[in-house]
Amino acid sequence: DFDHVVEALLNTPADLDSLRPDSVLEDSWIKEAVIRSGMKFRWAKLGESRERPNRDAQRRPPADPALLVSRPPVVTIMGHVDHGKTTLLDSLRKSQLVATEAGGITQHIGAFLVQLPTGERITFLDTPGHAAFSSMRARGAHATDIVVLVVAADDGVMNQTVESIQHAKNAKVPIIVAVNKCDKPQADPQRVKQELLAHGVVCEEFGGDVQAIHISALKGDNLQALAEATVALAEVLELKADPGGPVEAVLIESRTDKGKGPVTTVIVQRGMLRRGCVLVAGRCWAKVRFLFDENGCAVLEAAPSAVVQVVGWKELPSAGETVLEVESEQRAREVVEWRSHQAEQHKLLGEQSAIELKQQRHLEEYRREREPLAHLSWRQRRAALYRADKIRFSMRPSERTESDEPGLPLVIKGDVDGSVKTLLNILDGYDAQDECRLDVIHFGVGDVSENDVNMAATFGGSVYGFNVAASRGVTQLAARRGVALQLHRVIYQLVEQLRHELSSKLPPQR
Ligand code: GDP
Repeated sequence: DFDHVVEALLNTPADLDSLRPDSVLEDSWIKEAVIRSGMKFRWAKLGESRERPNRDAQRRPPADPALLVSRPPVVTIMGHVDHGKTTLLDSLRKSQLVATEAGGITQHIGAFLVQLPTGERITFLDTPGHAAFSSMRARGAHATDIVVLVVAADDGVMNQTVESIQHAKNAKVPIIVAVNKCDKPQADPQRVKQELLAHGVVCEEFGGDVQAIHISALKGDNLQALAEATVALAEVLELKADPGGPVEAVLIESRTDKGKGPVTTVIVQRGMLRRGCVLVAGRCWAKVRFLFDENGCAVLEAAPSAVVQVVGWKELPSAGETVLEVESEQRAREVVEWRSHQAEQHKLLGEQSAIELKQQRHLEEYRREREPLAHLSWRQRRAALYRADKIRFSMRPSERTESDEPGLPLVIKGDVDGSVKTLLNILDGYDAQDECRLDVIHFGVGDVSENDVNMAATFGGSVYGFNVAASRGVTQLAARRGVALQLHRVIYQLVEQLRHELSSKLPPQR
């Protein structure tokens, strides 16, 4: 009977499964019981999602090797700050190597193509830094074939050099070392290569297989050698792609252009991208109206490894998304509708209000811990689970157990879904490595709110915002409650600041 359901919910939530879905109980009864028990699970919605057929679009299985053709390598430039990444990209872009129309000005679209006199081509991504690289990788977009690691010959291997090596290794992407600033009198390229040894990067002269090219990005010295080394490595990698069938691409940049509306830059990975193609990316779709190369010239089609700007999006998708061609506009709408529905479900289930989240976590944990904890009250169970390290943020601050482990509670806000995800991905990486634990107590899209500040204050944490603002009232509240409010427009700076704050929390003996 009804009371039995309520009883079951309050005492042994796990029994709910046995009550649903085909027992004598009506859905409405369960809902009512759920409401009465104070647990806001959306069973009815859950039920719906189970019945919906999957209408998503997906990447195709790998092509028959016989159909594959060679494609140019896609290269990312990485390295320590000030070692010359931007200068190198600029000189590559300006050098005659770049396939620019005579007198044309290359536009920044997130990547550009270099063509050697011998005809070989290389695509350089010009969003330097780890953020772009890791966020794409975290979304499963393997957009890079080769990493050019820039190390300044007067400075040597620094911590971001080591991080870059780590990123490349994790992604199993081979490295070419560009020993930069060789024009400087104090340059010591030999030392650089020696230092790299300690990080498992063994250059050819030490018997390894990593090519190291001495360059001056500033003067443009030896850039051709660097390009040739890249082509040589690409040949060994036997990079191939399937030029037929529906397009698959990865989105590397997206923005709203005053004249063109939503524009994105994509790297084609499979198929031929043409005008008129219908594409989906995340929860957005496009009928391709124009394709432009980095010279701003309209192109008719783009083959694998080509980089093009795509105009024709109905809404702006985020960088890092996979772009897939579908057969019709009708199909595109269907995919977007399905994905939005999925996201909605996800939101209902995963990103409910903090309280619901706590309850849901508790329920999951409780199912596992049910036996030994059966006699405890809700609150006692929660405390027990927290102490056993089974749940992380489900305690009110007053209930938090003191721990020796230093931690930094964080509230993360970003301008769009993509930037929040990127930040969380980056933080995930730090969390695993560092002694000081990052507790992301809340995250979301939008300007910093009073609620964010209050939440941070309760936990003694900080608020980090990327590309978002805070009203005067919110700023004042933060000052009053002693909450550090960090608003940044460059991910790299945000992460630096965070790292700084983290290291200040580490125990003094370190
Ligand atoms: P990034 O932070 O890695 O992008 O570094 P930048 O490209 O901004 O370069 C940092 C500084 O180093 C700038 O002042 C550049 O002019 C300088 N620089 C870059 N490459 C060279 C080089 O080959 N030789 C010399 N002498 N200076 C360079």
